[in-house]
Amino acid sequence: MNLYQTQKMFLVFFFLNVVQTALPSSGQHQTIFFLTSGFCVKRHHRLCLLPACSHPLLSFCCSVFRAEQVFLCVCFDMFHLPVLRNRRTLLERAEKFISGVYFTDCNLRGRLYGESCPLETIDSFLSPNRITFSEASQQNFDPYHIGDTFGPTWWTCWFKVSMTIPESWRGKEVHLLFESDGEAMVWRDGQPVQGLTKEGEKTSYILSECLKDEEPHRLTLYVEMACNGLFGAGQGSMIAAPDPNRKFSVHKTELVIFNRNVQKLLTEFEMLVDIVKELGEGEQRGYQALFTANEMVNLCDPSDPSSFSKAHSLAHKFFSQHNGESQHTVHAMGHCHIDSAWLWPYEETIRKCGRSWVTAVSLMEKDPEFVFTCSQAQQFEWVKNWYPGLFTKIQHYVKRGQFIPVGGTWVEMDGNLPSGESMVRQFLQGQRFFNQEFGMLCKEFWLPDTFGYSAQLPQIMQGCGISNFLTQKLSWNLVNTFPHNTFFWEGLDGSKVLTHFPPGNSYEMKGKVEDLVKTVKNNKDKGRANHSAALFGFGDGGGGPTQLMLDRLHLIKDTDGLPRVQMSSPDKLFSQLQADSALLCTWTGELFLELHNGTYTTQAQIKRENRQCEVLLHDVEVASSLALCQNQTFVYPVAKLQQLWRLLLLNQFHDVIPGSCIGMVVEDALNYYREIHGDGAALLQEACEALGSKGGSTGVFNSLPWERHEVIQITDDSEKPRLALVRAPSVGVSLVKETQPLTPVSVTLQADGAVVMENGILQTIVRKDGTLTSLRVISANRETISDGCAGNQFVIFDDVPLYWDAWDVMDYHLQTRKPVVEVVQPVQVVSSGGLRGSVSFALRISDKSTVTQEIVMDAVCPYIKFNTKVQWAESHKFLKVEFPVRVRSPNATYEIQFGHLQRPTHWNTSWDWARFEVWAHKWADLSEHNFGVALLNDSKYGYSIHRNTMTLSLLRAPKAPDAVADMGTHQFTYAIMPHTNSFQDASVIQCSYNLNFPLRLIQCHPDSEPWSAFSVSPPSVILETIKQAEDGKGTLVVRLYESHGGSVTATLNTNLPVKEAWHCDLLERRDPARPALITPEGISLTFKPFQIVTLQLIL
Ligand SMILES: [Zn+2]
Repeated sequence: MNLYQTQKMFLVFFFLNVVQTALPSSGQHQTIFFLTSGFCVKRHHRLCLLPACSHPLLSFCCSVFRAEQVFLCVCFDMFHLPVLRNRRTLLERAEKFISGVYFTDCNLRGRLYGESCPLETIDSFLSPNRITFSEASQQNFDPYHIGDTFGPTWWTCWFKVSMTIPESWRGKEVHLLFESDGEAMVWRDGQPVQGLTKEGEKTSYILSECLKDEEPHRLTLYVEMACNGLFGAGQGSMIAAPDPNRKFSVHKTELVIFNRNVQKLLTEFEMLVDIVKELGEGEQRGYQALFTANEMVNLCDPSDPSSFSKAHSLAHKFFSQHNGESQHTVHAMGHCHIDSAWLWPYEETIRKCGRSWVTAVSLMEKDPEFVFTCSQAQQFEWVKNWYPGLFTKIQHYVKRGQFIPVGGTWVEMDGNLPSGESMVRQFLQGQRFFNQEFGMLCKEFWLPDTFGYSAQLPQIMQGCGISNFLTQKLSWNLVNTFPHNTFFWEGLDGSKVLTHFPPGNSYEMKGKVEDLVKTVKNNKDKGRANHSAALFGFGDGGGGPTQLMLDRLHLIKDTDGLPRVQMSSPDKLFSQLQADSALLCTWTGELFLELHNGTYTTQAQIKRENRQCEVLLHDVEVASSLALCQNQTFVYPVAKLQQLWRLLLLNQFHDVIPGSCIGMVVEDALNYYREIHGDGAALLQEACEALGSKGGSTGVFNSLPWERHEVIQITDDSEKPRLALVRAPSVGVSLVKETQPLTPVSVTLQADGAVVMENGILQTIVRKDGTLTSLRVISANRETISDGCAGNQFVIFDDVPLYWDAWDVMDYHLQTRKPVVEVVQPVQVVSSGGLRGSVSFALRISDKSTVTQEIVMDAVCPYIKFNTKVQWAESHKFLKVEFPVRVRSPNATYEIQFGHLQRPTHWNTSWDWARFEVWAHKWADLSEHNFGVALLNDSKYGYSIHRNTMTLSLLRAPKAPDAVADMGTHQFTYAIMPHTNSFQDASVIQCSYNLNFPLRLIQCHPDSEPWSAFSVSPPSVILETIKQAEDGKGTLVVRLYESHGGSVTATLNTNLPVKEAWHCDLLERRDPARPALITPEGISLTFKPFQIVTLQLIL
């Protein structure tokens, strides 16, 4: 340092001391104005007492206090003039000053911790199960040596740690350091107090913030450590199947003095460095940050804490230079996205919630401004049951508006696959739980991380008291950039919700400069929306936000050059957005994610169980509701049904029903489905027994709101199963009275081995290999199968995605199409006609996989069923079935929740071809004027209809995260239904219900008359749900929707003694202004296209 520099330095110190002595802790800090161009922004430079620097760009002007109207302005040069030209060295100098890797012997980071001292004892106890604290604390613990390994994966190691804090640490902040490769929870006095996860930057527990003599110095704590990482235990990569034999260890544990003032300064440095980097070379504010940081390094001597305040003052001056009024406002909200099951089983999620939420609560205890948003009622229920003490604290902070339950749903479900009724129940169970436990209903739907969003969600949200929606997943689109961050989302029926995608494209921000700069830069609605959300906190058990994140956000809450930041809540954000929404755009229809399209097919068993359980619970509710009216002694199974619904809803979590979870989760999910099946079947039987009357005659129960005329299989006591053609009244029961069809099915074997089947409605020719060369609608004499093509063609594709194995099927897989042609067993006749004609055949897919199929044509049935069994042992293959049809249309129609929508059959634009694989529920249809073909299914969700080929996706074979996903035997049914007229008039919708909801056999008195509880006209209105009201016996709730896409006045007929009928919302809250009109014909209702109407019927 030469003399010149020394003088300048002296001047700086002199100046700073003047400021500090003149303005002691009054809080009225005067502003120091930085000059980088010889021009003072507040125009005080004319008052400078010293001549301005001759290097304008490098001059540094400070206008000091204005007491008694005296302005003192000091100008001086920064250090090392030539060096200051080099942005890179200055920046790196500051970076190295806070580096945790380099120069820690002499830099600031090296001073973060002071003295340390070992623990007195550390003992451990290993458990294969996840046990309670009281159970664990009674076990025998053995001495543990740091570095010793334990495991295997999914076990739990409990540690008992005893320590004595040295007397000499009085006045210091004392931490217990505990670094391991697992996820841990600290227990103190029998209560959980802190989560510890290295990946979540939580490796220490604060024993004392400022050690006092009266505080306990001798302590024994417990640490419960799960043998899994933040993302489970993937072998080789995060999403690989877990390594079941992984070993874990504790790397470090000790008592240590934590220097909070060093941490503060480090944060200031870090933020300045980040501002330099994020604002780039084009922004003068970045240079101001650079020079401030450099000056701070000059002022700060790591070995002399008394030098810190000078550096801190400089930082303070920088960060308190305020923004202009037009600046974008970022609403920061703490968050911890916890997947309810994913790369770990459900049971571990309970502990992830405990670890994360206790950490959030302990931050709240220190910072009354800190806000934490938390979704999924199911997780609250887990915490309530497993950590009652923590739950009580959470209830306290919910009241204070700091711990904010969001979302309104039972879990953050998949946005595509759950049925309409399931989606309603997600909100019904969620909102009722939040209301019961916290006395509040969520006002926003919260689903940051699912794989697409049904066009019916806006209406369902609005019906559940929700008008705002937050997500961000569409930022993952592979092909097209979604054009908005803040917009109105208009659903299928025209319902609108205010929607916000945090422009930072993350739900796991860290409060860093980068997050805020991204939030502003990425905002696609600049000029239309000046507020955005930033969700910060480590997810998935990483424990959510840290003190460091809060410190960062606090530092830059109003700093020129960056957006304003305020700790906020969803309510505040959406209120602001709503208040200034005049210019917002509207997006109509589904929010389709151009990624993860394999999740419509992966883990076929889960999807099949989901569909079957949705059907079963529907039938249990209908049968129980009718039984309630028919039988005074019948008790509606309220508690049991709630339990089964909640299990079903849980499995609809956005990594379970999509099939993107590990094998352990699949096992859990299948067990839950078994429980639903077992208990649901028992409930159905009880209800049917109460509904029918014992009399030894066979009857049928039809849960659907139209009369059915179908061939079913009957099992009488004495005889073997036989077929019967029966009529069943709409939502009712009747004796089985077998009738004969006007036109029986005929089955004719041809000379070439092909089989012709005909039932008076359809005629088909099935070739030896099981493909259909012809499928004719007899009345119209219209051929369905394309010229020279074959329907029911199995095809197999290579299916190797770029990374997300279970999730993704890429567009290029379409180029690897191979027909499955090897016949193992050629077509042979199984049922020779009459009530049913059917043929079976078997194909070889590979040397490991086969498909066998029975093609069934029933009398009076307008579709052909394909009962399919696949033995599947492939690797990265995709099995589909194709029907090339004689239909030309630019759009195909797909069933979604409570309705349907159209998607293009061409690939004109990138938005069109990005939808090469789409989802649908029970059917998809391709129609031109007056003719079309529907492809129905009983358990599939993946479709593609390109040009005139209709394809149903059947099975995939990904290897991660479940190495044996979908291996084994599968059974499913699909059906082809060519029709004249529109699909609406051809009853495609009704047929798809019939395929999925079997007529149930019950016992009836031989004299009993057919009885129908409900019917609806016209058929475009579907009575979807009949249940007992959540609040109250004597009241039924019925839900109907308009399924054709047209406005209509409808009549709901009922034989039940309905005294009053009221419109209510999806949460079953009555609208006192809207009684439903009961006329002699029934209850009169009006519908807009795809409108959902819910009624309370008072009996
Ligand atoms: Zn997730």
